[in-house]
Amino acid sequence: MLRVLIIEDLPVNMLLMVAILQRAGHEAIEAGTAAAGIALARAQQPDVILMDIQLPDMDGLAATRLIKADPVLRAIPVIAVTAFAMKGDEDAVRAAGCDGYVTKPVRYREFLNELESVVSRRSPLSGFGGFAD
Ligand code: MN
Repeated sequence: MLRVLIIEDLPVNMLLMVAILQRAGHEAIEAGTAAAGIALARAQQPDVILMDIQLPDMDGLAATRLIKADPVLRAIPVIAVTAFAMKGDEDAVRAAGCDGYVTKPVRYREFLNELESVVSRRSPLSGFGGFAD
């Protein structure tokens, strides 16, 4: 079981991701803003963070940069959840420090595969490993 922090402002997207995670036996922690998510990450030390890119208070990539600059949080893998499909956007997700990404609309098996893959790769000595290129 993984403890997964979801930072997502749209209730329909949140409900879908929570349902997928719970069905797979994982625990979901929910935050609707970047600020709330970062505070919950500090308080609860989740195994992995799912980060929406468009949030009401802060760009999800900016929030990821804050997490990756924070010694207490930087080891927690961050998976961007994005509607982006362009190569340049993938580069931006990578440059912000994300450990992986999934595209919306999320699909059950692809979503869980990426989650489990990113978490299993986590190591303090490993470099960036979230992309297949
Ligand atoms: Mn959003």
